[in-house]
Amino acid sequence: MNPAIPQRRHSIPVQVGPVTVGGEAPVAVQSMTNTDTADIEATAVQVAELARAGSELVRITVNSEAAAAAVPAIRERLDRQGLATPLIGDFHFNGHKLLSRYPECAEALAKYRINPGNVGHGSKKDEQFATIIELACKYDKPVRIGVNWGSLDQALVVRMMDENARLPQPREVEEVTREALIVSALDSARQAEALGLGHDRIILSVKMSGVQDLIAVYRDLAGRCDYPLHLGLTEAGMGVKGIVSSTAALAVLLQEGIGDTIRISLTPEPGASRTREVQVAQSILQSMGLRSFLPQVVSCPGCGRTTSTYFQELSQDIQSYLREQMPVWREQYPGVEAMTVAVMGCVVNGPGESRQANIGISLPGTGERPVAPVYVDGEKTVTLKGETLAQDFQALIEAYVERNYGVKHEA
Ligand code: SF4
Repeated sequence: MNPAIPQRRHSIPVQVGPVTVGGEAPVAVQSMTNTDTADIEATAVQVAELARAGSELVRITVNSEAAAAAVPAIRERLDRQGLATPLIGDFHFNGHKLLSRYPECAEALAKYRINPGNVGHGSKKDEQFATIIELACKYDKPVRIGVNWGSLDQALVVRMMDENARLPQPREVEEVTREALIVSALDSARQAEALGLGHDRIILSVKMSGVQDLIAVYRDLAGRCDYPLHLGLTEAGMGVKGIVSSTAALAVLLQEGIGDTIRISLTPEPGASRTREVQVAQSILQSMGLRSFLPQVVSCPGCGRTTSTYFQELSQDIQSYLREQMPVWREQYPGVEAMTVAVMGCVVNGPGESRQANIGISLPGTGERPVAPVYVDGEKTVTLKGETLAQDFQALIEAYVERNYGVKHEA
């Protein structure tokens, strides 16, 4: 283990179906569907896609009677495909009714997510919250109390703002808002435990959309409880902005040992696969050395020494090839996910970087001899050239994987 890898904050392990969140368990990757849950086929297909991409837990919205009625059938379709990925039901406003009226839905879900700001209003709030918690106890399900600053309990915010205004030196509004998120999460957790839910059946989240706010609120919450924490920058946005903001916030917290499960709330581009959020979550954890999911391609950015696109294409092809192999390799070649493959653009850093990787190729830069030395475990083994260079390198990777990660059977 790299000594720079931080100690995780102590948290109580919570069992979510077959997945442990918190305690000594590795930081779990989760995602959420964007299909209409009432559409059994579309939702089952998307959950399967997310699960195969590596999402260890998948959340689905349960917002209507039709959605609640669909949940057992979605579970069944996944089971038939051999996918044990736990389904988490996301409830707002009517969760108490849906879970009461659809016992098979309550049973099929592995965890309920409730938002204290959206459980109900006024005098109904406590009653509806209690109904959900009692059902969680009855079906022995854990609950995530997921507070979101966009739907923070307004009565709580008003009360805390009033109290703050009466202080001789009132705190900044942002600080009071962050405190309100934490109070909402911790009070709800206390209330749930008073209703009989086990201390080891609760996960908390306090999501905000600003990077610095998110870091500050989780640091504070982490020191005030031992519930596992679900991390995520809410409404992270699209494309590069969403990825960078999420990474900036989560990396700081993970480096401090905070966070037991993560979700990247990316807005997908129209028609784009939902699995992007899983890839980003995995990449954050792997680039920080916290977990390994997929062999990594180390490639240089290229420069004036790489005037053709050949090097970029080869890097991309190798990355796609590795990703495509993983569903099979994961089973056949344990440990392969930690492998590194270097694809370098020229002789300047090519041989050095390739020697550091498990297997690497140093392509010829502009004006260099059109040959590409390959390095295996630090040693130059062969030089490739000609039209079949890409296929030849792929074949060498395949042979390397088989040799080094294949399960050895006793004779
Ligand atoms: S390894 Fe060569 S091609 Fe790649 S960035 Fe460095 S100098 Fe440029």
